[in-house]
Amino acid sequence: MIPPAPAPMLRIDRLSSRYGRIQALREVSLEVGEGEIVALVGGNGAGKTTLLRAISGVQPVSGGAILFKGADITRARPHARVAAGIAQSPEGRQIFGELSVADNLRLGAYLRRDYAGIAEDTERMFTMFPALKELRERPGGALSGGQQQMLAIARALMGRPVLLLLDEPSMGLAPVLVDQILAAIAALKAAGTTVFLVEQNAFAALSIADRGYVLETGSVVVQGSGRELLTNPDVQSAYLGV
Ligand code: ATP
Repeated sequence: MIPPAPAPMLRIDRLSSRYGRIQALREVSLEVGEGEIVALVGGNGAGKTTLLRAISGVQPVSGGAILFKGADITRARPHARVAAGIAQSPEGRQIFGELSVADNLRLGAYLRRDYAGIAEDTERMFTMFPALKELRERPGGALSGGQQQMLAIARALMGRPVLLLLDEPSMGLAPVLVDQILAAIAALKAAGTTVFLVEQNAFAALSIADRGYVLETGSVVVQGSGRELLTNPDVQSAYLGV
């Protein structure tokens, strides 16, 4: 007998969310399996950030459910979700400009008390992002856009999340830096982190994703493997400029 498939790490079930009269998410359903990179792509205002904020617990939902490792977390407090292993690297980076790179990383570990482990992980981040090592004593605000993006991702990783939510990590970056960020995300997957990646840059996201979903005006309209979506004519004409 074939054993039942394991429950997905994250399951979004018919989730709806609104800002007053604006319905930003309409019965969105999707899944992120353990060890996967799953991409959510879509244009401006499609609802991508709203969905990530709902998963993090800072956006009210008006219907549906969010399950994490089989547990219903739809009404859980944001800090409880962080403690459970969900970390978000926000759009626009939001690093602390006055604090050094090293202190920004320490803040990412604010729920942890295993100081030796924190020191170890800090070095691991410097191995993963060598540019940050050279800049460790510099204020975060003095870093370039790409370096700040790497710092934001590294800071989220300092909490040792099992699920990393990334909001537009390629935003505003030159192509060479986009490639570096993509390589870093692929390395995270190889190290066992599950990644839910939200992007307007559909080509970048789908090229590293195991699977992807396309969101339009709050609804999932297409889903498939990263490769299927990259070769889907509708996706190509709407999002890939083909
Ligand atoms: P972008 O890539 O531009 O960030 P997005 O796909 O992340 O777009 P959202 O920011 O989630 O889209 O927005 C979804 C919808 O909700 C849009 O119609 C947007 O105008 C609306 N919206 C977002 N934030 C608010 C808010 N604070 N108040 C009212 N409406 C909002």
